[in-house]
Amino acid sequence: MHAFRVTTERRTQFVDITSRVQGAVESLGLREGVVHVFVPHTTAGVTINEGADPGVVADLDAALERMVPWAGPWRHGEGNSAAHVKASLMGASLCVPVEGGRLRLGVWQAIYLCEFDGPRTREVWVSKA
Ligand code: ZN
Repeated sequence: MHAFRVTTERRTQFVDITSRVQGAVESLGLREGVVHVFVPHTTAGVTINEGADPGVVADLDAALERMVPWAGPWRHGEGNSAAHVKASLMGASLCVPVEGGRLRLGVWQAIYLCEFDGPRTREVWVSKA
């Protein structure tokens, strides 16, 4: 397993971690197969979406905010229920194919750490699936 940290600056932030995951694939010496990307958090997630136009993840962020408003009402006493719900919508893990030692992503795809209760330092765990 290869772990790395990501420090976020805002409450909600989509951080492109594709190159970090690629680095982890190289550290693991994985040439062919599937890599598993996991975040050990309940208010952050991971997703794959377009990496070319930053408007796409801005729209994703805005759509999640419309679906899951921060203000609630909520039952969870910590006051960050919206972050928990958004983290579950995105999910805590991904599997990505690896071919010739490279992530085999679609041409427009990037891997994002999705911060929903920042700023914080988050961990990403990458392992051979
Ligand atoms: Zn909480």
